[in-house]
Amino acid sequence: MPLYRDEGVVLRTAKLGEADRIITLLTLGHGKIRAVAKGVRRTKSRFGARLEPFMRADLLVAQGRSLDVVSQAESVAAYAEPICADYEAYTAANVIVETADKLVGPEESRVAGQYRLLIGALNALAKHAHAPDHISASYVMRALALAGWAPRLHACVVCGQRCFTDGFTGAAGGGSNGRSGDVGTAEFQSAQRFTQRFTPQPVVPQPAPAFANGMYLSVPSGGLMCANDHTPEATRITAAELVQLRALTDGDWRTLDGNGLLPQTAHLVEDWAEYYLERPLRSMRLLD
Ligand SMILES: [Zn+2]
Repeated sequence: MPLYRDEGVVLRTAKLGEADRIITLLTLGHGKIRAVAKGVRRTKSRFGARLEPFMRADLLVAQGRSLDVVSQAESVAAYAEPICADYEAYTAANVIVETADKLVGPEESRVAGQYRLLIGALNALAKHAHAPDHISASYVMRALALAGWAPRLHACVVCGQRCFTDGFTGAAGGGSNGRSGDVGTAEFQSAQRFTQRFTPQPVVPQPAPAFANGMYLSVPSGGLMCANDHTPEATRITAAELVQLRALTDGDWRTLDGNGLLPQTAHLVEDWAEYYLERPLRSMRLLD
């Protein structure tokens, strides 16, 4: 059987027969793969321990006719241990791997950006770099943005009026044009963005005149709407909720750290993910 080497993160596992498992991994060079790990349930095998969810491993994989087979796995980073020791981190990690699994299709091979974002998020969880629910919510928004579903959160999607006066753009200063997704690709690809830590900075920007009578977010329309233009399905949001949603999407930890995730912001992240993934995130539902 032809062999290939790659590194990957375990997204989920399923039992196969008496002693085997099917492992679903996101790999750097081969996209999402499913491969059999033989004998991993028979004993307390070290091989099997490297193929548990959230583990990042160097793999040697044999290409089979129907299913690939993992023939070697060497641990690159044992994110699983610190994550599984902390219930909140564990819950957040489940949201992250489920999102990655649903977002990346089996035929996609150019997933390096998604892969880096995934290891950035798991690394941050393992190191307790930020609040776990912030890390998972930010991961969800950034992974969807990277896939082409970035919310437009700087101006009304209908009339184009910017939502805040004084040129407020958030601490990260992301999104100068407010049109092409509000986020820079380079930031997504940097794992460091997940592990910088900041002291809290309360931000209370003033809404611009078009938004004085309310700010709205329409998930199907892809972003912010002013009071004049909002459609019936749009949700009314406060400036604080909007600032937090922008910070999650930008990976702006200066704004996020030390401020709890607002319930409405968390719901909007869930709605955004469910709409654009075209199915609910089971692991996120458990948080309600
Ligand atoms: Zn408008």
